[in-house]
Amino acid sequence: MKVAILKRVGGLIAVAAVAAACSTTDSGRKQLTLMSDSQLELQAKETFEQMRANMPLVKDQKTIDYVACVANALVAEMDGDAANMYWELAIFDQPTENAMVMPGGKISVFAGILKLTKNQDQLATVLGHEMAHATARHTNERATRAAMTDAVVEWGALVFGSGGYYDPSRGIYRRGTTQSIYGMGKALEDIGINRPFSRLHEAEADEIGSMYMARAGFDPRESVKLWKNMSDSNNTKIPEMMSTHPSDESRLEAHVEHLPEALAIYNEARANGRNPQCER
Ligand SMILES: [Zn+2]
Repeated sequence: MKVAILKRVGGLIAVAAVAAACSTTDSGRKQLTLMSDSQLELQAKETFEQMRANMPLVKDQKTIDYVACVANALVAEMDGDAANMYWELAIFDQPTENAMVMPGGKISVFAGILKLTKNQDQLATVLGHEMAHATARHTNERATRAAMTDAVVEWGALVFGSGGYYDPSRGIYRRGTTQSIYGMGKALEDIGINRPFSRLHEAEADEIGSMYMARAGFDPRESVKLWKNMSDSNNTKIPEMMSTHPSDESRLEAHVEHLPEALAIYNEARANGRNPQCER
């Protein structure tokens, strides 16, 4: 009886929330984001400040100007919420071939990725991809999904498990089968829900990112070159961009598939005078 009430109340909350929090990403995909953006952004800001306080930053002005030039060219062509985001970027003096982004547009670039990317267009590929994660609010979507599936898994465990109970004679909490069913539910959730979700987000960040770079006049053909370079089997370090694989080949295929569209945007941008000249 208790569970049935829980389910009904939960159902009502979910329906109300779906109506209130459906948004659309820059690739046109409908998404559900129930977490507080301002809360996530506050946490991100604190983490970003801690990182900047604790890790050495690149001091070479030419390098800073180069990365800023590419980032500014990308942001200049954004519109709506993406353009209004308070973008911040730090270049950490670390050999890691990586870049990452946190909610609200806090981008970390690690010096290693500047070596891996051979020109401004390849760097724009990386920054565009990270920016897309932020503008598409992937963190919020993941946190929302995690909270909702957690609730579903808990309900499942309550319904199908025998439940734990408090034994007042011994003053201890006794475990029923609920705990192990909960564990099974969590494992299934990870395999069935979270991993494909990561793949979806990586693919979407690739797609939106290539649109951002093309709009700014960066050559999207360089993305394919970078991708081939990164997926080279000799490269054992896996950048964030490649961290969740829909398999390297299918991701490279998707890049190639989107290329005509990205090239059309790029050609139009160049015709309209978007011709970034960022020198390293
Ligand atoms: Zn990514």
